[in-house]
Amino acid sequence: MTEPVLADLTTLRVGGSAARLLTATTTDELVAHVTTAWDDDEWLVLGGGSNLLVADDGFDGTVVLVRTTGVEHESDGDGVTVRVAAGEPWDTFVATTVERGWTGLEALSGIPGTVGAAPVQNIGAYGVELSDVLTRIEFLDASTGERAWVPAAELALGYRTSTLKHGRRGAVLTVEFRLGTASDAGVAVRYAQLAGSLGVELGAFV
Ligand SMILES: Cc1cc2nc3c(=O)[nH]c(=O)nc-3n(C[C@H](O)[C@H](O)[C@H](O)COP(=O)(O)OP(=O)(O)OC[C@H]3O[C@@H](n4cnc5c(N)ncnc54)[C@H](O)[C@@H]3O)c2cc1C
Repeated sequence: MTEPVLADLTTLRVGGSAARLLTATTTDELVAHVTTAWDDDEWLVLGGGSNLLVADDGFDGTVVLVRTTGVEHESDGDGVTVRVAAGEPWDTFVATTVERGWTGLEALSGIPGTVGAAPVQNIGAYGVELSDVLTRIEFLDASTGERAWVPAAELALGYRTSTLKHGRRGAVLTVEFRLGTASDAGVAVRYAQLAGSLGVELGAFV
């Protein structure tokens, strides 16, 4: 059997082979694969590969490729709660929210990668950060083996950082957001250049 080449799975298109690659297309499969991967000394959860540099020597462990899908939502009078599988492509998800008139993620359009990786570095752009609308993640914790919902407040989300980036190992299975709806007051423009391009004051609602 040919070993999977990680250069084929990363944006930079560099990197040698992984000893083993397991692809998860359902959340239960993701849990099973990650749990199996823990038996190896080295393991890695891989999303879209857009923020990862792999050495030419490759990776002597198990790589779990996250390709899970699914978007669920519940609307109420104040907005919408959306739960998204980790493997959903981020930009496709943002486009879905815009199409449905859900507000809060527009400024994060165009960022590559998967939904599950987004909390790892608290992605952001144009004055908006994931932490503005992230409520909690469903997380498989490598230190305890537990699968549980973790509130955003426990992730130490900061500028391009979180506990997931700094030692809290495991797999993000699902990400939950609280978004507005188009009938709300709109979205505040928090980035000077964007405000200039739109011809509005900084902080204005559009
Ligand atoms: C052209 C370009 C533009 C970009 N622009 C921006 C930008 O504007 N703003 C910004 O914030 N970032 C930006 N980024 C960075 C990148 O888009 C984000 O970091 C993105 O969240 C990475 O997603 P990914 O699925 O590709 O993660 P990967 O590269 O696959 O993984 C990155 C890290 O997250 C971990 N990880 C991935 N999935 C999971 C999971 N389900 N559970 C646990 N850990 C996981 C991996 O182990 C790895 O440590 C940009 C990158 C590129 C190449």
